[in-house]
Amino acid sequence: MKANFPENEDQRIKALNLYNILDTLPEHIFDDITKLASLICNTPISLISFIDRDRQWFKSTKGIDIKETHRDVSFCSHAILKTEETMIINDATSDNRFIDNELVTSELGIRFYAGTPLVTHDGYALGTLCVLDKKPKNLDKEQVEALEALSRQVMILLENKLDNIKLQSIEKDLEKEISKIKQLNKELLLSESRFKQLSETLKGDVDSSIEKLLEEKEKLISLINNAPAVISVLKGPDHVFDLVNPLYQEIFGDRKLLGKPIRVAQPELEGQGFYEILDGVYQTGKPYYGYGMPAQVNRDDKKHIFYYNFIYQPIFNNNKVEGIIVFAYDVTKEVISEEKYKVLSQSLEEKVQERTHDLYNAISEIDYERNKLNNLLMNAPAMIVILEDPDHIVKLSNYIFQKCTGNRDLINKPYREALPELEGQGFFEILDNIYQTGELFIGNEVSADLDVNGDGTLSRHYFNFIYQPTFDINQEVIGISIFAFDITEQVNARKEIEKLYNQVQISNESLQSFAYIASHDLQEPLRMINSYASLLSRRYKGKLDRSADEFISVIQDSSKRMKNLIDDVLTHSKIIKKGDSQNPINTNNVIEDVKSNLKLSFNESNAELNYKDLPNVSVEKIHLIQLFQNLISNAIKYRKKDVPLKINISAKKDNNKWLFSVNDNGIGISKENSEKVFEIFRRLHGREEYEGTGIGLANCKKIVELYDGKIWLEGEEGQGSTFFFTLPA
Ligand code: ADP
Repeated sequence: MKANFPENEDQRIKALNLYNILDTLPEHIFDDITKLASLICNTPISLISFIDRDRQWFKSTKGIDIKETHRDVSFCSHAILKTEETMIINDATSDNRFIDNELVTSELGIRFYAGTPLVTHDGYALGTLCVLDKKPKNLDKEQVEALEALSRQVMILLENKLDNIKLQSIEKDLEKEISKIKQLNKELLLSESRFKQLSETLKGDVDSSIEKLLEEKEKLISLINNAPAVISVLKGPDHVFDLVNPLYQEIFGDRKLLGKPIRVAQPELEGQGFYEILDGVYQTGKPYYGYGMPAQVNRDDKKHIFYYNFIYQPIFNNNKVEGIIVFAYDVTKEVISEEKYKVLSQSLEEKVQERTHDLYNAISEIDYERNKLNNLLMNAPAMIVILEDPDHIVKLSNYIFQKCTGNRDLINKPYREALPELEGQGFFEILDNIYQTGELFIGNEVSADLDVNGDGTLSRHYFNFIYQPTFDINQEVIGISIFAFDITEQVNARKEIEKLYNQVQISNESLQSFAYIASHDLQEPLRMINSYASLLSRRYKGKLDRSADEFISVIQDSSKRMKNLIDDVLTHSKIIKKGDSQNPINTNNVIEDVKSNLKLSFNESNAELNYKDLPNVSVEKIHLIQLFQNLISNAIKYRKKDVPLKINISAKKDNNKWLFSVNDNGIGISKENSEKVFEIFRRLHGREEYEGTGIGLANCKKIVELYDGKIWLEGEEGQGSTFFFTLPA
C-alpha cells in the first residue's frame, strides 16, 4: 500500500529542491553516516533517502546497490508522514502497509525497517536515515537514539550545504552590487558634466525649469543635495537662505546660513560685489553669469579665496521675482592655472613689447642709417643717380648731379625725358643694354654735351663713370646706379699741358738742332783759327816780340778751349734719345773701356780704381761710357794732390733698377753746391785751377734722366764725393 502525501507536500518538495541534493554524486561524509547507522543498528542495509514527488532517491546506500525506487514502494514515504518520530517495522510481512510491497515480496525479501525522518529547521521531512534487514528485528532504545542523532547530523550537513548555496548567491549578489556601485561611481563622475549641461539648459529656458523645480521640490532638494555644484536658494529682497546644498555649506564651514539674509550670514562678502549683483538680479529679473570670480571667505579663522563660475538665476512667481537660485562651480584650480597663464602671457607680452621696442629702435636706427646714407649719397663728391625699371626712372639724383644738369626736376622721370640733350650721344643705348644683359659698364674720359645751365646751351664735359646694374633676389635687373666724376677740368688741363708739351718739344728740338748746327758750324772757323795760330806759332815764335808770342799762345789756348767747349756742347746736344736698341750692356766692360780711354790720366795720377761684379744695364753703350767717363775723369781731376786717389764703383739692386755709386777721396763739394754742379756750364773752380767746361755733370744728368733715372751727390767739401745714380736693369 502506498503512503499518503504529507499535507504540506508542495512546500516540502520546494524545500527539498532548495537543498539541491537530488542526483548529486556520492559523498564520503554521507557514506560514513550510513556505515555508522548499519553498525550501530546491526543491520546489513542502511540508506539516506529523499522522497521526491514520484521517487525515492538515495544519497548514500550501505548493503544494497540501488540509486532510487518508485515512491510507491518506499517505506520512507510512510516514515516522513510523522516528522517527530522514528518509524520502526519489525516484520513487514505482518504489517498491512507493506505485506504486498515489492521490496518485501521480491527476492530482496525486506522484513525489518527503521527510519528517522530528515527534518529541516522549518519542519519539512525531506526523507529518512533508515536501516533495513531481511529478517524481522527490533532496535533497542540506544540504537533508536543513535539513529535519530545520525539523522540530525545528516540534516546539519544538508543545512550547511544550503548555507553554502545561499552564501554563493549572496556573493553573486555582492558582485552584482559592486558592479552596480562601480556603475554608480561612473555616473557620479559624469554628473559634473550633466550639471554643467543642466546649467546650460537653465540658461535657455530657466523659467519653465524653475516652475518644474518648484513642482518637484523634494526631488529637487535631493538632486541639489547630491549635486557636485554649489547651490543655494535665496528668498526675498534680503536674499535669505532658503536652501543650501552640502557643497555650498562646506565653503562656509559650520556657520549657520539657512534662514539668514546673505549680508548677515556672509558678512565677509561685503565689498566683493556679490550683494550688489544679487540686488541687481532681484530688481531686474535678469540672470547674471559670473566667470572665474574670486570670493574671499572666512573659514576656520582663516581667509580663503575661491574662484567660481556662477549663475544668479531669478525665481519668478506670478511674474514677480521672489528669490534667486545660485549655481556655482568651483574653478579655483582652473583660475589659478589661468592666473599662471596670465602671468606667463604677461611676461610674454612684456617680451613682445620689449621686442617691439627693439624693433622700433631698429627701425629708427635703420631710418637714421638710411637718412645718413641718403645724405651721404646726396652730398657725395661724385655724381650719383639711381635709376629703376626698364625706362630708367630717376629715383635719386644727388646735389652734384643736379647742379651739373642745371637743377632740373629729374625725380620720377625717365632718364631720356629728364636729359633729352643726351639723345644721340650713346648713353641711353648703354643703359638699355645693361638692363638687358646685367653687365656693368665703365666709361673713361667719356665726353658728354650737357645743358649745364638749363638754358638750352650745351657745353662739353668729360666723365669717368660706372653704370652698375642692381638686382633683385632672383638676380633680375631692377635698376641701374650711376656713379660719375666730372673730370672736365683735369682733361682740359691735361690737354693744355699736352699742347704746351708739344710746343716745348718742338722748340726743344729746334734748340737742339740749333746747338748742333751752331757747334758744328763753329768747328770749321775754329779749326781755321787753330791751324793759323799753329802756323803763326811755328813760323814766328821767337822771331817777333814777346807780346806777339804770348798773343799767339793765347790764341792757341783759346781755340783749344773753344774746341773742347764745342765738343762738349755737341755731345750734350746729341743726348736726346735712348737709341733704338737697348741690349743689356756689361758695366764692367764699359769701365774697362773708360780706363783705356783715360789711360794717360790714370798713369799720371796713379789712381786706384776698384769695382767688382757690376751689373748689366739697359742703356746705350755710348751713353754709359759718357756717364762713367765724366765721373771718373772728374774724380781724377778733382783729386787731392797729397793723397793717393782711390775710386770705388759699386752697384746694388733697387727694385727694377740698379743704384750705382762712384766714390772718390778727392777735394769734395760743399752741400750748398751739391745740386748746382749738375747745371750746364756751372763750375766751382776757375780755369786757372782746373780745366773744364762745366758741361760734364750736366751731360751725366741728361743721360740718367733719359733712362728715367736720378742722379745726386753726397759728400762734404774736403771729404771726397759720392755720386749716386739709377739706371734700368
Ligand atoms: P768741369 O769739370 O768741366 O768743370 P763738370 O760739369 O764736370 O764740369 O763739373 C762741374 C763742377 O763740379 C766742377 O767744376 C767741379 O768744381 C765740380 N766737380 C765735379 N766733379 C767733382 C769731383 N769729383 N770732386 C770735386 N768736385 C767736382
